[in-house]
Amino acid sequence: MKIVVIGAGIVGVSIARVLSMYDGLDVTVIEKQADVGWGASKANTSIIHPGHEENPREHPLRSKLCVEGNRMWRTWVKELDIPARWPGELMVFTSSEEEREARRYVELAKLNGVTGVRVVYDRELRNLEPWVNPAATGAVYAPTAGTISPFEAVIAIAENAVENGVKLLTETEARRIIVKGGVVEGVETNRGFVEADVVVNAAGIHADEVSHSAGVEEEFRIRPRKGEYLIYDEDASVKPARILHTVPTPLTKGVYALTTVHGNLLVGPTAEDLPYEAKEDVSTTDKGLKLLSREASKLLKELPPKSKVVRTFAGLRPEPPKGQWLIRAYTDPWGFLNVAGIRSPGFTAAPAIASYVVQLIAETYDIQLRRREKWNPYRVGPTRVNGVGLDAVDSIIRKNPDYGEILCYCRMVSKAEVLEAVERMKTIGVKPTLDGVKFRVYAGLGKCQGSFCRWRVAAVLSQATGVPLYKVAVGAEPYAFGDVKVLLKGDPSASEGV
Ligand SMILES: Cc1cc2nc3c(=O)[nH]c(=O)nc-3n(C[C@H](O)[C@H](O)[C@H](O)COP(=O)(O)OP(=O)(O)OC[C@H]3O[C@@H](n4cnc5c(N)ncnc54)[C@H](O)[C@@H]3O)c2cc1C
Repeated sequence: MKIVVIGAGIVGVSIARVLSMYDGLDVTVIEKQADVGWGASKANTSIIHPGHEENPREHPLRSKLCVEGNRMWRTWVKELDIPARWPGELMVFTSSEEEREARRYVELAKLNGVTGVRVVYDRELRNLEPWVNPAATGAVYAPTAGTISPFEAVIAIAENAVENGVKLLTETEARRIIVKGGVVEGVETNRGFVEADVVVNAAGIHADEVSHSAGVEEEFRIRPRKGEYLIYDEDASVKPARILHTVPTPLTKGVYALTTVHGNLLVGPTAEDLPYEAKEDVSTTDKGLKLLSREASKLLKELPPKSKVVRTFAGLRPEPPKGQWLIRAYTDPWGFLNVAGIRSPGFTAAPAIASYVVQLIAETYDIQLRRREKWNPYRVGPTRVNGVGLDAVDSIIRKNPDYGEILCYCRMVSKAEVLEAVERMKTIGVKPTLDGVKFRVYAGLGKCQGSFCRWRVAAVLSQATGVPLYKVAVGAEPYAFGDVKVLLKGDPSASEGV
């Protein structure tokens, strides 16, 4: 049976991984970007939510899959060597009104079976979080919250799925679902027709358009809701031990301050509803960033100076009507599924969504699922020299001197690591790009954000792939532009259209 998954975000790759556990399924993931995980899955708060903020009366499936997902990630991060930590979170309140609102989540925790959630005050609060603002009167503590490297999670799952036989087609955009006689036949893409018996629509913010092209859920619309972030340098001293956040509002789970798995203070997100058409608007705004500083000051006893901000970024929540995830298998057309409008806590729930969707496929289309004997649950992450003791570095360099040639000084990334990233990208069928390298081995993720290392990494990429330097891509766009492009190509016509 041929199954096509549209979208290589966290939801699509998780579904592909779970499908790869079974015999007789020929699974292809199609992704319009050059790499996996470049939609909402790379630009979010990176939290594995406990599930105590979900109201099971309003969103029963979302609540259930969030709690299950939190449990499943504990296994997945080990199997797949994904950077993650489990520090727990504190929903900080500063007034009796906020305390009343925050206490609701202790009740929701009980309804959802989330263990350990309780209110903490005074000394216990300050012991749990020395960086908390002295004005905080208490907090709801949820010990099962975690934080993960979101982009590495998508990459790791994609690598494991491909290792287990899944095909990944990047730079392949689904244009239309082809249906004949009420039955799905495949997907028309910019690179031709891809045959399928079953199509799973996991196209994130564009999933409504894909669904309409199959003639399904024509009233269903996904709206972009923007979330902006501030990210501080690794060397900024403010590093909360727990995940801190303000009390949620109807729009958002509140503003968070947390130390990422890469050691940076992350503050965000805002929540701004954008017009329906603004599905690519990931700009940051002065207003949004000021609001973040204000909200983070309520959480923390101090904020690092502005000069320590190394990057601002924004992600778009794929907001479905009434916040309801649309996870449904259709019999008209036979073979089409929507896994659409997966807004927060979609990252947390992704492994559980994947298991749920695979069962849904089996039940709806009457497929007997048989576990493969040879399925490999494991994937090992890239070798890194940063953080490894001097003796170990010495022995790595003796085996391969390229580990001694450091290209990115902020994150201490060597030439050998960049070359490994290139090989990993090629293995899963992804075009090597500078962003692809950054998300795999962190070259360009540090203080200077690539000002120093980018051209060095580009030169290695060019050598390793045979792509001319001016054509090496950052993300979708080539690195070189304007005069640089002309200079590197030595051909004035290269400036056409620039
Ligand atoms: C600001 C913000 C904060 C969040 N914080 C958290 C959090 O802390 N914890 C949590 O659990 N969740 C969080 N979320 C939610 C979480 O990020 C999403 O639920 C999750 O990433 C959705 O994954 P996805 O795979 O459905 O979508 P995406 O990651 O957007 O993936 C969809 C993919 O489909 C591709 N695609 C689209 N159209 C086509 C097409 N026609 N053909 C081929 N490919 C196509 C896209 O390029 C993309 O790669 C947050 C989201 C945002 C935006």
